Amino acid sequence: MAITTKDLQRLFVLIAEDIAAHRDHLCELDGAIGDGDHGLAMDAGCDAAARAVGALDPAKTAPTAALNAAAKAFLNAVGASSGPLYATAFMRAGAAVKDKSDLSDEEFVHAFAAMAEGIRDRGKAEPGEKTMVDAWKPAADAASDAWAAGASLFQCFDLAERAARQGCEATRDMVAAKGRASRLGDRVIGHIDPGAASAAIFIAAIAKFAQHDG
Ligand code: ADP
Ligand code: MG
Repeated sequence: MAITTKDLQRLFVLIAEDIAAHRDHLCELDGAIGDGDHGLAMDAGCDAAARAVGALDPAKTAPTAALNAAAKAFLNAVGASSGPLYATAFMRAGAAVKDKSDLSDEEFVHAFAAMAEGIRDRGKAEPGEKTMVDAWKPAADAASDAWAAGASLFQCFDLAERAARQGCEATRDMVAAKGRASRLGDRVIGHIDPGAASAAIFIAAIAKFAQHDG
Protein backbone atom coordinates (compact mmCIF):
# COMPACT_ATOMS: atom_id res chain seq x y z
CA MET A 1 0.00 0.00 0.00
CA ALA A 2 1.27 3.48 -0.84
CA ILE A 3 2.70 5.63 1.95
CA THR A 4 1.05 9.05 2.04
CA THR A 5 1.85 12.33 3.78
CA LYS A 6 -0.72 11.32 6.39
CA ASP A 7 1.32 8.16 7.05
CA LEU A 8 4.48 10.26 7.35
CA GLN A 9 2.73 12.41 9.95
CA ARG A 10 2.11 9.23 11.96
CA LEU A 11 5.70 8.07 11.42
CA PHE A 12 7.16 11.34 12.74
CA VAL A 13 4.97 11.09 15.85
CA LEU A 14 6.17 7.51 16.46
CA ILE A 15 9.80 8.60 16.14
CA ALA A 16 9.32 11.62 18.41
CA GLU A 17 7.60 9.48 21.08
CA ASP A 18 10.34 6.86 21.14
CA ILE A 19 13.16 9.41 21.17
CA ALA A 20 11.40 11.32 23.99
CA ALA A 21 11.12 8.10 26.00
CA HIS A 22 14.91 7.65 25.75
CA ARG A 23 15.86 11.31 26.20
CA ASP A 24 17.53 10.96 29.61
CA HIS A 25 19.39 7.79 28.65
CA LEU A 26 20.77 9.49 25.52
CA CYS A 27 21.93 12.43 27.63
CA GLU A 28 23.70 10.01 29.98
CA LEU A 29 25.49 8.35 27.06
CA ASP A 30 26.54 11.78 25.75
CA GLY A 31 27.57 12.79 29.27
CA ALA A 32 30.14 9.99 29.28
CA ILE A 33 31.93 10.95 26.04
CA GLY A 34 30.45 14.31 24.98
CA ASP A 35 28.65 17.29 26.50
CA GLY A 36 25.53 15.52 27.74
CA ASP A 37 22.96 17.20 25.48
CA HIS A 38 22.27 14.56 22.84
CA GLY A 39 18.95 13.40 24.32
CA LEU A 40 17.75 16.99 24.59
CA ALA A 41 18.89 17.76 21.05
CA MET A 42 17.21 14.70 19.48
CA ASP A 43 14.06 15.18 21.55
CA ALA A 44 13.78 18.85 20.55
CA GLY A 45 14.51 18.08 16.91
CA CYS A 46 12.15 15.12 16.57
CA ASP A 47 9.39 16.93 18.45
CA ALA A 48 9.76 20.00 16.22
CA ALA A 49 9.79 17.84 13.09
CA ALA A 50 6.67 15.93 14.19
CA ARG A 51 4.86 19.19 14.94
CA ALA A 52 5.88 20.82 11.66
CA VAL A 53 4.83 17.80 9.60
CA GLY A 54 1.68 17.39 11.68
CA ALA A 55 0.65 20.99 11.01
CA LEU A 56 0.56 20.44 7.24
CA ASP A 57 -2.64 19.64 5.37
CA PRO A 58 -1.94 16.08 4.17
CA ALA A 59 -4.41 16.43 1.31
CA LYS A 60 -2.43 19.33 -0.12
CA THR A 61 1.14 18.41 0.83
CA ALA A 62 3.37 15.98 -1.06
CA PRO A 63 5.79 13.75 0.91
CA THR A 64 8.76 15.73 -0.41
CA ALA A 65 7.36 18.97 1.07
CA ALA A 66 6.63 17.22 4.37
CA LEU A 67 10.21 15.95 4.57
CA ASN A 68 11.56 19.40 3.76
CA ALA A 69 9.41 20.87 6.52
CA ALA A 70 10.83 18.25 8.90
CA ALA A 71 14.37 19.21 7.87
CA LYS A 72 13.80 22.90 8.48
CA ALA A 73 12.09 22.34 11.84
CA PHE A 74 14.80 19.94 13.04
CA LEU A 75 17.58 22.34 12.06
CA ASN A 76 15.91 25.31 13.75
CA ALA A 77 15.31 23.38 16.96
CA VAL A 78 18.79 21.90 17.39
CA GLY A 79 22.05 23.74 17.99
CA ALA A 80 24.13 20.57 18.41
CA SER A 81 25.91 18.68 15.60
CA SER A 82 22.97 16.30 15.20
CA GLY A 83 20.93 19.28 13.85
CA PRO A 84 22.50 19.66 10.41
CA LEU A 85 23.10 15.90 10.14
CA TYR A 86 19.40 15.00 10.50
CA ALA A 87 18.27 18.07 8.54
CA THR A 88 20.39 16.89 5.63
CA ALA A 89 18.99 13.37 6.04
CA PHE A 90 15.40 14.61 5.79
CA MET A 91 16.22 16.87 2.83
CA ARG A 92 17.83 13.99 0.97
CA ALA A 93 14.84 11.77 1.69
CA GLY A 94 12.62 14.56 0.32
CA ALA A 95 14.75 14.86 -2.81
CA ALA A 96 14.62 11.08 -3.31
CA VAL A 97 10.81 11.18 -3.52
CA LYS A 98 10.44 14.45 -5.43
CA ASP A 99 7.25 14.76 -7.53
CA LYS A 100 5.60 11.72 -5.87
CA SER A 101 2.14 12.16 -4.41
CA ASP A 102 2.66 9.03 -2.32
CA LEU A 103 5.44 6.48 -1.88
CA SER A 104 5.64 2.88 -2.96
CA ASP A 105 7.47 0.54 -0.59
CA GLU A 106 10.46 0.71 -2.92
CA GLU A 107 10.48 4.50 -2.83
CA PHE A 108 10.28 4.41 0.95
CA VAL A 109 13.35 2.13 1.10
CA HIS A 110 15.16 4.49 -1.31
CA ALA A 111 14.28 7.49 0.84
CA PHE A 112 15.66 5.67 3.89
CA ALA A 113 18.92 4.92 2.07
CA ALA A 114 19.10 8.59 1.02
CA MET A 115 18.89 9.63 4.68
CA ALA A 116 21.91 7.50 5.57
CA GLU A 117 23.86 8.87 2.61
CA GLY A 118 22.97 12.42 3.55
CA ILE A 119 24.31 11.92 7.08
CA ARG A 120 27.50 10.45 5.68
CA ASP A 121 27.98 13.27 3.16
CA ARG A 122 27.24 16.02 5.68
CA GLY A 123 29.42 14.70 8.50
CA LYS A 124 32.10 13.05 6.36
CA ALA A 125 32.26 10.14 8.81
CA GLU A 126 32.97 6.62 7.64
CA PRO A 127 31.88 3.43 9.42
CA GLY A 128 34.25 2.61 12.29
CA GLU A 129 34.65 6.24 13.41
CA LYS A 130 32.22 5.89 16.36
CA THR A 131 29.36 8.05 15.09
CA MET A 132 25.73 7.65 14.11
CA VAL A 133 27.01 6.46 10.71
CA ASP A 134 27.88 3.16 12.42
CA ALA A 135 24.15 2.58 12.91
CA TRP A 136 22.76 4.34 9.81
CA LYS A 137 25.03 2.83 7.15
CA PRO A 138 24.54 -0.87 8.03
CA ALA A 139 20.82 -0.26 8.52
CA ALA A 140 20.44 1.36 5.09
CA ASP A 141 22.51 -1.38 3.47
CA ALA A 142 20.44 -4.07 5.18
CA ALA A 143 17.15 -2.52 4.03
CA SER A 144 18.35 -1.95 0.46
CA ASP A 145 19.87 -5.43 0.15
CA ALA A 146 16.75 -7.08 1.57
CA TRP A 147 14.53 -5.09 -0.80
CA ALA A 148 16.69 -6.12 -3.78
CA ALA A 149 16.38 -9.75 -2.64
CA GLY A 150 12.58 -9.53 -2.68
CA ALA A 151 11.82 -8.95 1.00
CA SER A 152 8.69 -7.14 2.21
CA LEU A 153 8.86 -3.64 3.68
CA PHE A 154 8.37 -5.14 7.13
CA GLN A 155 11.25 -7.60 6.63
CA CYS A 156 13.51 -4.85 5.24
CA PHE A 157 13.06 -2.68 8.31
CA ASP A 158 13.20 -5.57 10.74
CA LEU A 159 16.66 -6.30 9.31
CA ALA A 160 17.55 -2.61 9.29
CA GLU A 161 16.63 -2.34 12.97
CA ARG A 162 18.82 -5.32 13.85
CA ALA A 163 21.73 -3.95 11.82
CA ALA A 164 21.38 -0.56 13.53
CA ARG A 165 21.38 -2.16 17.00
CA GLN A 166 24.44 -4.24 16.14
CA GLY A 167 26.18 -1.24 14.62
CA CYS A 168 25.42 0.79 17.72
CA GLU A 169 26.72 -1.94 20.02
CA ALA A 170 29.93 -2.17 17.95
CA THR A 171 30.72 1.51 18.65
CA ARG A 172 31.52 0.48 22.25
CA ASP A 173 34.93 -0.84 21.18
CA MET A 174 35.77 2.06 18.88
CA VAL A 175 37.89 5.16 19.28
CA ALA A 176 36.11 8.27 17.93
CA ALA A 177 37.49 9.95 14.83
CA LYS A 178 34.74 12.62 14.50
CA GLY A 179 32.87 14.96 16.83
CA ARG A 180 33.53 15.88 20.45
CA ALA A 181 34.43 12.35 21.50
CA SER A 182 37.40 12.38 19.11
CA ARG A 183 39.24 14.62 21.62
CA LEU A 184 39.13 11.95 24.31
CA GLY A 185 41.24 9.25 22.66
CA ASP A 186 41.16 5.83 24.30
CA ARG A 187 38.97 7.09 27.15
CA VAL A 188 35.85 6.59 24.99
CA ILE A 189 36.45 2.85 24.66
CA GLY A 190 33.79 0.96 26.59
CA HIS A 191 31.11 3.60 25.88
CA ILE A 192 28.43 3.40 23.20
CA ASP A 193 28.24 6.40 20.86
CA PRO A 194 25.12 8.46 21.73
CA GLY A 195 24.40 9.33 18.09
CA ALA A 196 24.49 5.66 17.13
CA ALA A 197 22.18 4.87 20.05
CA SER A 198 19.61 7.49 19.02
CA ALA A 199 19.87 6.31 15.40
CA ALA A 200 19.00 2.75 16.52
CA ILE A 201 15.94 4.10 18.37
CA PHE A 202 14.95 6.22 15.37
CA ILE A 203 15.29 3.27 12.99
CA ALA A 204 13.41 0.96 15.37
CA ALA A 205 10.51 3.44 15.25
CA ILE A 206 10.54 3.24 11.44
CA ALA A 207 10.49 -0.56 11.76
CA LYS A 208 7.44 -0.29 14.01
CA PHE A 209 5.78 1.88 11.36
CA ALA A 210 6.69 -0.59 8.59
CA GLN A 211 5.21 -3.42 10.63
CA HIS A 212 1.78 -1.83 10.32
CA ASP A 213 2.22 -0.38 6.86
CA GLY A 214 4.31 -2.96 5.02
P1 ADP B 1 27.26 17.81 19.92
O1 ADP B 1 28.44 16.91 19.83
O2 ADP B 1 27.40 19.04 19.10
O3 ADP B 1 26.84 18.05 21.33
P2 ADP B 1 25.07 15.90 19.75
O4 ADP B 1 25.31 15.64 21.18
O5 ADP B 1 23.67 16.22 19.36
O6 ADP B 1 26.05 17.01 19.20
O7 ADP B 1 25.45 14.64 18.88
C1 ADP B 1 26.61 13.89 19.14
C2 ADP B 1 26.64 12.76 18.12
O8 ADP B 1 26.77 13.30 16.82
C3 ADP B 1 27.79 11.82 18.28
O9 ADP B 1 27.50 10.83 19.22
C4 ADP B 1 27.96 11.26 16.89
O10 ADP B 1 27.17 10.10 16.70
C5 ADP B 1 27.39 12.34 16.00
N1 ADP B 1 28.41 13.00 15.20
C6 ADP B 1 29.28 13.94 15.59
N2 ADP B 1 30.05 14.32 14.54
C7 ADP B 1 29.63 13.58 13.48
C8 ADP B 1 30.02 13.50 12.10
N3 ADP B 1 30.99 14.28 11.59
N4 ADP B 1 29.37 12.62 11.31
C9 ADP B 1 28.38 11.86 11.80
N5 ADP B 1 27.98 11.89 13.07
C10 ADP B 1 28.60 12.74 13.90
MG1 MG C 1 26.30 16.56 22.65
